[in-house]
Amino acid sequence: MLHVVHHADYIAPRPAQGSFRFDKYWLVMEELRASGAAITEHAPAPMPRKWLEAVHCPTYVDEVLRAAVPRHKERRIGFPVTPAIARRVQHTNGGTWLAAQLACRHGYAANSAAGSHHALHDSGAGYCVFNDLAVAAHRLIAEGDASRVLIVDLDVHQGDGTASLTAGRADIFTLSLHAEKNFPVRKARSSLDIGLPDGMDDDGYMEVLTRHLPQVIEAFAPDLVLYQAGVDPHAEDKLGRLALTDAGLAARDRFVVAEARRRGVPIASALGGGYGSDPRPVAARHAASMLTMADENARWDQK
Ligand SMILES: [Zn+2]
Repeated sequence: MLHVVHHADYIAPRPAQGSFRFDKYWLVMEELRASGAAITEHAPAPMPRKWLEAVHCPTYVDEVLRAAVPRHKERRIGFPVTPAIARRVQHTNGGTWLAAQLACRHGYAANSAAGSHHALHDSGAGYCVFNDLAVAAHRLIAEGDASRVLIVDLDVHQGDGTASLTAGRADIFTLSLHAEKNFPVRKARSSLDIGLPDGMDDDGYMEVLTRHLPQVIEAFAPDLVLYQAGVDPHAEDKLGRLALTDAGLAARDRFVVAEARRRGVPIASALGGGYGSDPRPVAARHAASMLTMADENARWDQK
């Protein structure tokens, strides 16, 4: 059973400018519903303003919620922040938090959007408006749902916003594996950064992941994992520089879920990056990722 968080507002009407493909979020749900797998959809409430302001600059939160983001910040984000986008990002942020709540009940749950790891304190960046990973981690700890949150970021781009928004916190650990030469040019400092060489294949990637992830979980001892499961390390991704196959992504996702579940730690995923001129294969990769993780989760339930 896949518990997946989705909301009608995730599918914002496409803005007139910008190259970001919002149709991917509709296609991901189509893929999941057509897969024949058992799925339960959960609709999130919008993330309350006070939790957005706990992580982001209140002035910037106000700019987004009024759809009055200055042009220079919109350029950094990559699309205009319309009223529909403002509603969308409140729901996608609520979605990652809800996925974490569901994970605590079911072992694993997925948010079918978000993973907005480039969003910074007073601006969005790189197609990210509010940083759902940092916002959810902060709220979960503040409300006593978790005491130590590990954010595993396996998107091909570095989780620079998450790293800077959670820097100095002893109760949040950020692990980022990313293509070293990819965006962002200037990297932030995660708790642990692993920069990967261009063209890395399945075997090389899994060697690095198996060397680091178990150690991090053992040493940090989280009681919740948030997983940014971007599929842009795939060889055919338009913005990735790595060379993972479908099987490589599946092995990655199974490993992350297994490493959490074998220690009794719930894990929630956020969608993350995935890019292509045709959004269909990208959506299929995201759907396969969530179904693979749900399948791995079910295996641990049976043990
Ligand atoms: Zn990415």
